[in-house]
Amino acid sequence: MTQFSADEWLRYTRHIQLPQIGPQGQKRLKDAHVLIVGAGGLGCPVALYLAAAGVGQLTIVDADRVDVTNLQRQVLYTTDSVGKLKAEEAKAHLLALNPSIQITAITEPFALTNGPALVADANLVMDCTDNFATRYLINDLCIEHKTPWIFASIHQFSGQCALFTPETACFRCLFPEAPQDIPDCNAAGVLGVLPGLLGTFQANEALKYLSGMATPLKNTLLLVEATDLTFRKIKLNRNEHCVSCHQLKSPQELQNDYQLLCSSNDLADYEVSSQQFDQWKTDKHYRVIDVRSLAERQAFHIGGEHIPLDDIQQALQQKPQAANTIVCYCQSGKRSAKAVAALKEAGIDDCYSLAGGIQQWLKEHQIHTG
Ligand SMILES: [Zn+2]
Repeated sequence: MTQFSADEWLRYTRHIQLPQIGPQGQKRLKDAHVLIVGAGGLGCPVALYLAAAGVGQLTIVDADRVDVTNLQRQVLYTTDSVGKLKAEEAKAHLLALNPSIQITAITEPFALTNGPALVADANLVMDCTDNFATRYLINDLCIEHKTPWIFASIHQFSGQCALFTPETACFRCLFPEAPQDIPDCNAAGVLGVLPGLLGTFQANEALKYLSGMATPLKNTLLLVEATDLTFRKIKLNRNEHCVSCHQLKSPQELQNDYQLLCSSNDLADYEVSSQQFDQWKTDKHYRVIDVRSLAERQAFHIGGEHIPLDDIQQALQQKPQAANTIVCYCQSGKRSAKAVAALKEAGIDDCYSLAGGIQQWLKEHQIHTG
């Protein structure tokens, strides 16, 4: 029995021809098990390149379903994938690309319950998430299991990438506390190609790490600006007060850090559902306000008047209409939540925000109209 089948030997020819990889490096890829947390903008290119390169086992964790707004950047999915579970769609498309590898799809969120076993089984973890809570959990479990992991994050036109190992500074050394009020891609927007760039850098480091080559992003943060195409590398230093890499606290003790602030489906007390919004929209006792920018308003809206978020506090203080309940909306529900906070601060208490914004409203209307 040989180490590779005839098909594998042909398939990986271009790797095997590289003196830095060769048959030994390719065998290391074949023997590797990589855990990919998140099958979104970063997870798609990471999974595509690792599968194509012949990483023998991939486990893909994602509880989400494909949404039409994902297709602008999540290149594993097609229009037919909308509504289907990402992890399962990813598995099907990756196996079509390379049937000689093993892929496990986990369709539940990566959490403290399933995380330890998933990390324990992997040689390398790829952080393809979009939030700090899951990154802290990946970080702390990887420290506990002495597993290296590759971090990447994207925001509008900027990206970051780093390889953390048991010997290096950790993610908490870099970010001891989650920044407050950072929007995710759903709220902030992201250039479609940006997760492709950063995911490709992650896959590049992963393939070098697994095949035994040097990895320049070890203990180093790469900063990418897609607008002017600048790349900077910053050496990381271990923080002597870091609770994770000095193992001052266990993941169980740190579990409050892993709570996703925005994952809840429950409505906050200032939020209204799309159905409630529709009832109120036709009732003259309710004043509906679109708080997005003028450009967004002109492009598309779902009624009401237009007052941008930055102007709302002043506009309503000048012309108070005490009899009306105010309902604000925006694209995803984040800016309208800010508008509600600003109005309450100005003493206008009878105000609400459309939960999930226009995005959620459109989704529910598509379902209602079939
Ligand atoms: Zn640390």
